[in-house]
Amino acid sequence: MTSAVWHPFTQHGLGEPIPLVTHGEGAVLHTADGRRIVDAISSWWVTTHGHRHPRITAAIARQAERLDQVIFAGWTHEPAEQLAGALVRLTGGGMPHVFYSDSGSTAVEVALKMALGFWLNRGEPRHRILTLEHGYHGDTIGTMSVGARGVFNRAYAPLLFDVETLPFPAGDGQNTLDALETACRAGPAALIVEPLVLGAGGMLFYPAAVLARMRAICSAHGVPFIADEVMSGWGRTGTLFACEQAGIVPDIMCVSKGLTGGVVPLAATLASEAIYDAHLSDDRATMLFHSSSYTANPIACAAALANIAIWDEEPVQARIETLAARQQARLDALPATVRHRRRLGTIAACALGPADAGYLSALGPALLAFFRERDLLLRPLGETVYVMPPYCISEDDLDHVYAAIAEAADRFA
Ligand code: PLP
Repeated sequence: MTSAVWHPFTQHGLGEPIPLVTHGEGAVLHTADGRRIVDAISSWWVTTHGHRHPRITAAIARQAERLDQVIFAGWTHEPAEQLAGALVRLTGGGMPHVFYSDSGSTAVEVALKMALGFWLNRGEPRHRILTLEHGYHGDTIGTMSVGARGVFNRAYAPLLFDVETLPFPAGDGQNTLDALETACRAGPAALIVEPLVLGAGGMLFYPAAVLARMRAICSAHGVPFIADEVMSGWGRTGTLFACEQAGIVPDIMCVSKGLTGGVVPLAATLASEAIYDAHLSDDRATMLFHSSSYTANPIACAAALANIAIWDEEPVQARIETLAARQQARLDALPATVRHRRRLGTIAACALGPADAGYLSALGPALLAFFRERDLLLRPLGETVYVMPPYCISEDDLDHVYAAIAEAADRFA
């Protein structure tokens, strides 16, 4: 049968197999041909508590019986109100306004629009955004503009807006901090960063002290600081949000992925009083001009509330710490040929094969196929293999993941 589906980030011309997934449970996916696949990347970093957590499934069913969808411009509903309150509480109260959207990319688009609106409404328009080298914030035109440039966005290059890219924090990060200090003097509109870990850029970690200093420099210059916690949020780096490890509160923060436990699409952009106030007046021209049809979908908000109930009432932090320790032990036990081993919270990464194989080298697809043959959902970024499973993964399944990585280290050395 020829499929009509055009898959994301997939070269159909290569004829690679596309498994048909029928059901999932915990850290495992099952396919139509009877295979049991370990989901070692939480289905693109979203499924924090595992597939089909009963609490989230029940919340979705309950909400679907009550209110499925309602326009959110000028109307509201209980799940959205409760969720906004919960998000404000979980982030310490410093960002008391919550704007909903549907994906990580839209959460970032909204953040950028909030920053630009902030300056325009103050009568001092600014447009230049500062970003970090190797950053990734999504695949829309705006989010690609603030992310790394390369083969993934070269077709759209003329449409991407100009940004100023700061070097990735090396060592103590002084290179980045110096560049940020200089850039801030020129009056940029905002700085956007992925806190503590640059995900799609290669699972690159940098210290919390550097994040704290970046925030301090932005504060000193009155430059809005945007934390993109789309990937780092919901426990991935060891704390609920990565910013907590630096003891900072951003001006604007983007959350998505694990917001609903990774079950249904939803995103939120949180904003400080100052960002919100800049849009507040008796003039419609200063409002935030953004919406999408499904903004704050009630079923998605109910799933997010169930996710937060799981955080509040189940030992999620203990699960994270157990998984972190298990990942570390297995990372340490990999063969000596495995390079650049690193771990942050529940994210473990390492490099296989010859150094500096690029994103389009043959290594990535070869590794992908190698892991798929071993019933593993792992999706290397070039030479970088990372393991970011649901927090409920069993020791046996984790052993299976690392046995395959060790085998791949020999095979692709
Ligand atoms: N921001 C970060 C840090 C991400 O890692 C991602 C996706 O991986 C996004 C934004 C975009 O999220 P989405 O794929 O939901 O649009």
